[in-house]
Amino acid sequence: MMQSRTLGDIKITRILEYAGPTHDPAFLFPDLDRSVLDANVDLMAPHHWIPHMNKLIVTIQFWIVHAGDKVVVVDTGVGNFKPRAGIARMHMLNTLVREWMIAAGAAPEQVTHVVMTHLHADHVGWNTTWQDGRWAPTFPNARYYIPKDDFVFCDAGRNKEPGVVDVFGEAFFDSVMPVVKEGLAEMIVPGQEIAGCLQVEPAAGHSPGQVAFRVRSRGEEAVFCGDILHSPLQIVRPDVNSGYCIRPDLARTTRLALLNQAADSEALVLPVHFGQPHCGYIRREGQGFLFEPATW
Ligand SMILES: [Zn+2]
Repeated sequence: MMQSRTLGDIKITRILEYAGPTHDPAFLFPDLDRSVLDANVDLMAPHHWIPHMNKLIVTIQFWIVHAGDKVVVVDTGVGNFKPRAGIARMHMLNTLVREWMIAAGAAPEQVTHVVMTHLHADHVGWNTTWQDGRWAPTFPNARYYIPKDDFVFCDAGRNKEPGVVDVFGEAFFDSVMPVVKEGLAEMIVPGQEIAGCLQVEPAAGHSPGQVAFRVRSRGEEAVFCGDILHSPLQIVRPDVNSGYCIRPDLARTTRLALLNQAADSEALVLPVHFGQPHCGYIRREGQGFLFEPATW
């Protein structure tokens, strides 16, 4: 499915790959005590946590930015027909993402830029499609923008190390390297601007080289924050890391910086894994923060 909203002169569309009550909290947030979820039940249930199942709802989605004649895809989900041994919910998907993208005015040939917050398997999958016996670039006319420090990490083989292999998986080889070999990729670092509308900002911690993308138009602001946040719970408890945050202290520092900046700027925060309504605003309360869900 898809949903669109405007930000000044820019259109932002959400493309859903799948969502569901898939994650045991103890798996996604190893340091989290159940009492924290119970204390935040009004925030978390029913769109982000199903208490009687004790499962967190995790969405896999990504965002499309229409800005002038630019069509930018921000992260690219899990992808179709990707072998993901050991992660059944991601293994050999056959979803209608391509059809929804066409419906949203972002058919593969129309996409001009593909930007990635980081290189985990659930953020790069639609970079490529299985065609004629090979993983071919899904978006043949696009430039693909890859966070440099994540690429260096994977290229050195560290994506295969115990503890990180589950999140990078085979994606580097079937979804990242093919677009590099086709000459379609560019490495990005914080401080750059992409497509005349996206500012690349530092967001390392969850992965070695994660970045965020800020967009502004006519006084409105939004930030594509990747996996700085997995769940609204981390807005009220910024100290809570996911089990996938490879640099735990840096992940917390990055999260706190995002929350402070988003609260000050009133930016719309656009994560990847939140349940309904999938995006929102950060407000201050006392020394901490609150989540104000967006309306569609
Ligand atoms: Zn993710």
